[in-house]
Amino acid sequence: TFDRRPLIAGNWKMNLDHMQGITFLQKLAWTLDDAGHDPARVEVSVFPPFTDLRGVQTLVKGDSLDIVYGAQDLSPEDSGAYTGDISGQFLARLECSYVLVGHSERRTLHRESDELVNRKVHAAFRHGLVPILCVGEGLEIRQAGSHVEHTLAQVRSGVAGLSSEQVATLVIAYEPVWAIGTGEVAGPEDAQEMCSAIRGAIRAELEALFAADTAARIRLLYGGSVKAANAASILRERDVDGVLVGGASLDVAEFASIVRFEE
Ligand code: PEP
Repeated sequence: TFDRRPLIAGNWKMNLDHMQGITFLQKLAWTLDDAGHDPARVEVSVFPPFTDLRGVQTLVKGDSLDIVYGAQDLSPEDSGAYTGDISGQFLARLECSYVLVGHSERRTLHRESDELVNRKVHAAFRHGLVPILCVGEGLEIRQAGSHVEHTLAQVRSGVAGLSSEQVATLVIAYEPVWAIGTGEVAGPEDAQEMCSAIRGAIRAELEALFAADTAARIRLLYGGSVKAANAASILRERDVDGVLVGGASLDVAEFASIVRFEE
């Protein structure tokens, strides 16, 4: 069996400037320390805006905090005439561990296609970053009952061209769009249904491409209106290996109690 250490990831979105971000992170580190948080059991990661990352690096590395961090997006390119874009190379220099790729807000507001998302996944690996590939269906697709098919198609195109080792390292976050920032949380059984379908697809449909243990190693997260009150029941599901938290990651006490879901 493989150790799929639970990952609790906080997506700050466009909140907390570089000063607020540092204050927040210090408080979070103290709160987790006080609560006796054990990083060997549960991994904690935050996703601040780009402009916070240098400050976050200085704090996390300088004070050896047991918190890792990543960016909310990256360019599919490495360098050149791409005004406003951020290279994975720059994120690696700031010692980011992870990078979100294909978040539904990027897919919707910036019209990111599956093809672009796949190029970003490859760009992340080129620079030693672990991509968190975000997938999930909108309300209409859910109501039509084709949510599994839709989400698996996003997964397949997201992982196209990767090696087994890369797929096993990758994190996939299932975030039904209708549950993001809406207070509408999918039930633990919905989270389990999709995570099990994703793991099953990697095990079965992609078995010709990927090594046998890939499906057992890959970490699958649920995201969409996760709070302290519902985190434990979602994280108890067999194929759910963590949560991606938006709104509730901006409150130190709330986020810390999600991290302490085992209690
Ligand atoms: C997210 O942005 O990934 C998210 C899940 O947001 P929220 O928790 O606010 O629904």
